[in-house]
Amino acid sequence: MHSALTIAGSDNSGGAGIQADIKAISANGVFAQSALTAVVDENTRGVYGIHKIPPSFVASQIKSCLDDIGADAIKIGMLDDGDVIRAIKNELLSFSELKGFSNIVLDPVMVATSGDTLLEEAAIDVLKTELIPLARVITPNIPEAEILINQKITAADFEKACEALSKLGGTKPVSVWLKAGHLEDELLVDYFYNAETKETIKLPSRRVDTRNTHGTGCTLSSALAACLAKGMDLNDAVREAKDYITKAIESASTWKLGNGHGPVNH
Ligand code: PLP
Repeated sequence: MHSALTIAGSDNSGGAGIQADIKAISANGVFAQSALTAVVDENTRGVYGIHKIPPSFVASQIKSCLDDIGADAIKIGMLDDGDVIRAIKNELLSFSELKGFSNIVLDPVMVATSGDTLLEEAAIDVLKTELIPLARVITPNIPEAEILINQKITAADFEKACEALSKLGGTKPVSVWLKAGHLEDELLVDYFYNAETKETIKLPSRRVDTRNTHGTGCTLSSALAACLAKGMDLNDAVREAKDYITKAIESASTWKLGNGHGPVNH
């Protein structure tokens, strides 16, 4: 049995965060473990509070997972602040021999669909300099990518933006899945820049007319981590995860759960 570890915040309403990650990893046939970075009080309407977990306790959860079951891939989601980012980095570095260490998928979570902040502003540079260089793939949406490279991005700039984002990997460029969901177009085209083969893949999908998009980023990055945990080739894993998230959005599009942005299906 392959296993994946998600390091992320929780969503008590079940649509995003660790809860979405566990569902997506399980649905992709991989055993899911989790290390909680924060307990978030939220629902489909918004975020009401963030209860931080002490960085040393986040690190010890990671150690307990990796020391025992291990992991074939690791997904990193909501981090909240710089101290927890540094603690995660240090803990992961002590497991650099593990397969999962070379399969880190980092979703640079910053702001929820509801507009609530999930990463303190002061932590953005820490994320860029300390954690992105450890990742194999990053999965920003447009607002996150704009913050990471400090420039506006339109559909016409996707290729250039991917190149700039890839450089955040430092000496080892990081692969980039830049998501198009924030564009207004009918046909949305994500770009995947594979830094290992230096090729770019376009991932088109039709816009789904629905408010149920809560947890899409968490789901996509976890599905990708699960596919990598199974040993899939990077491009195949990305295509499989794209297929998974498309079906997850389509099949929940008429659901009526909550009064805000409802969850996707797993
Ligand atoms: N809550 C938690 C704990 C998350 O990790 C995330 C995103 O990663 C969100 C909420 C935001 O989800 P969304 O923007 O899809 O509503």
